[in-house]
Amino acid sequence: MNREIKKIISQMTLKEKASLCSGFDFWHTQSIQRLEIPSIMVADGPHGLRKQAGSADHLGINDSVPATCFPAAAGLASTWNRELIYKVGEALGKECQAEDVGILLGPGVNIKRSPLCGRNFEYFSEDPYLSSEIAASHISGVQSQGVGTSLKHFAVNNQEHRRMSVDAIVDERTLREIYLASFEGAVKKGKPWTVMSAYNKVNGVYASENHTLLSDILKDEWGFEGFVVSDWGGVDEIVSSLTNGLQLEMPASYGIGEQKIIEAVKKGQLAENILDNAVERLLKIIFKIFDNKKVDAAYNKEAHYQLAKEAARESMILLKNEGDILPLKKTDTIAIIGEMAKFPRYQGGGSSRVNPTKLENILEEFETVAGKHTNVLYAQGYDLNSDFTDENLINDAIEISSSSDKVVLCVGLPDRYESEGYDRKHLGIPQNHVRLIEAIAEVNTNIVVVLSNGAPVEMPWIGKVKGVLEAYLGGQAVGSAIADLLFGHANPCGKLSESFPKLLSDNPSFLNFPGEGDRVEYKEGIFVGYRYYEKKKIEPLFPFGFGLSYTSFEYSDLLLNSRDINDTDTVTVSVNIRNTGKVAGKEIIQLYVKDVESSVIRPEKELKGFEKVELQPGEEKNVTFTLDKRSFAYFNVELKDWHVETGHYEILIGKSSIEIVLQDRIHVQSTVSIQKPIHRNSTVGDLLADPNLAPIFKELMGRLKIPSLGSSEGADGKGSEMATAIISNAPLRALVNFSRGSFTDEMLNGLIERLNQKTNHIQLID
Ligand code: BGC
Repeated sequence: MNREIKKIISQMTLKEKASLCSGFDFWHTQSIQRLEIPSIMVADGPHGLRKQAGSADHLGINDSVPATCFPAAAGLASTWNRELIYKVGEALGKECQAEDVGILLGPGVNIKRSPLCGRNFEYFSEDPYLSSEIAASHISGVQSQGVGTSLKHFAVNNQEHRRMSVDAIVDERTLREIYLASFEGAVKKGKPWTVMSAYNKVNGVYASENHTLLSDILKDEWGFEGFVVSDWGGVDEIVSSLTNGLQLEMPASYGIGEQKIIEAVKKGQLAENILDNAVERLLKIIFKIFDNKKVDAAYNKEAHYQLAKEAARESMILLKNEGDILPLKKTDTIAIIGEMAKFPRYQGGGSSRVNPTKLENILEEFETVAGKHTNVLYAQGYDLNSDFTDENLINDAIEISSSSDKVVLCVGLPDRYESEGYDRKHLGIPQNHVRLIEAIAEVNTNIVVVLSNGAPVEMPWIGKVKGVLEAYLGGQAVGSAIADLLFGHANPCGKLSESFPKLLSDNPSFLNFPGEGDRVEYKEGIFVGYRYYEKKKIEPLFPFGFGLSYTSFEYSDLLLNSRDINDTDTVTVSVNIRNTGKVAGKEIIQLYVKDVESSVIRPEKELKGFEKVELQPGEEKNVTFTLDKRSFAYFNVELKDWHVETGHYEILIGKSSIEIVLQDRIHVQSTVSIQKPIHRNSTVGDLLADPNLAPIFKELMGRLKIPSLGSSEGADGKGSEMATAIISNAPLRALVNFSRGSFTDEMLNGLIERLNQKTNHIQLID
């Protein structure tokens, strides 16, 4: 329906406008019946709908209506499958329509800075490109159904410890290249209808009232057109929030926010046009949701369950498969051990907790898929609710393992180990799970470990087992997905969206996580995840992008449509990929870019493209990628923009971040020259390195008797290297001293003026 929103606003009283900026209750926006402004319901996300019909809470305590529980974000990202994530989004949108929910509170794109963050299961990746691509597909899927999303938590919410008060101190380049980039791609590509501000402070200012984040970057730079909603209880002062770019405080403040806004307007502390703009943003989305509401919407539970299963199968990662222990043979006697097989961990704790439409158990599904020819034995192995080892349970497990061909051990992180609200203290799985693995390894060497966890764990026991399947938190179809993969009914095709370190202390944030008191400094800078492990040459347990398959793939014919481009051009990269094994499978082809030589500190390489393809045995497909300026750029804090340095870049095609199979080179020419003003303290070396300034400088300096400037090498040439180095690092003013009186301060000023005139002309060499 076409409405004149500005006209509606002109008819609103100050009180009505102010009331709209705070929620009506826990999950609804305010309605104004007089003007036919409807109330909209919002509900968590992101991997399933959590609509509370009864008592409300944002902690996952009270029940919610049944909904499909898809794999948690950690798993969804491991699919690297944009189309599949879009379909999951679509399904979520349909469930929202059926339940009269207008906005799904998700997805979350905070970067996995530390594997300890209790909420990592709800986030996608340590890499901003992968994270933003997956998020954009999720958002597009949900919103295709006329339901809004709320991209969260904007920004730099990378820990749960003191999450509502901690101040995350991040330098500008790191913020742009890592923490904001994850949101940037999602906002620009996915166009979420709303964004949720984070609880924490960013560089001294609460995210919910951070003008740089909410107004300068999100709105002005990225062109975000929706409204910003606070995280639940995340507004400090509503007037400051409104002034700086937030529009909706959630949940209700029961009149307090409204009153503060009214008073601020009356006292002239809040310009009414700021309030009007906020209301305009709110109304645009509220009416959009209202107009897109589908009458009598319903969804097909069975179809969504099947989709949850497809997503679960693609989200799991085969990490180890020594001697091809997997897939399991149906003629074997197989012991399946661990209480998690009966009570699977399939989702994380907190506000994202879904009440699933149905829930599979691993043991039952395993027995079903195995069929009647397989002898399946079960033992509890450990008490899921305790860390203490019960030797009786271990003995029972040993007994069945001794008489089995293979053992499947279901272990991982119980609910109490990770959740929204707190961070882990270590990366270990419970001691009784470890003890079980070690005890079984004594009697049977054919062990496959199935891990259920929301984030990386250390695996000191890895050498004692032949197979490891990382199942993450697989959602309601966790059981059949695991069984299908173990028996080869489905071929594993997930790859890690985060690095698994060998030790927690290897992680780049280790020394500064979770900070001191209310201050956490991101001292590792841009070196997050694989960017750090590669630069430091620290071998991770499993690298970013890694995952095995039951088939094999061969890469060939890497082709660039140009090897010399300007930074305003794009380049097309194509590669052939063939399934050289005996079964159908999917492969994730990763494209990384490496800056060969750079004047700024950069990672070894960065992910800039990926594609997932399905291939029958013997089948070959061609995959193409398009790279643009951003694929080569770093964020230049002086330009306040993305910048590409002229030079060579390597295009690396990998099966994972460490297994690069093909590579080529491209030269990229910058169209922007960074020219800093020349002053007394500019160095000689910097001037000499600049092709435009060096000739003028040399010509003038040639007349001076200063070594290594082209005129006066040391008599025997000796020491000239040292002299060059010293002179290069000298500020211009020092030439006055070094010239023994032939170069005066006056001459220096003249030189600086001349050089600066020259620089003005060459700001842009477009
Ligand atoms: C969480 C959000 C969630 C909100 C509503 C907050 O505690 O941080 O992610 O959407 O509650 O449940």
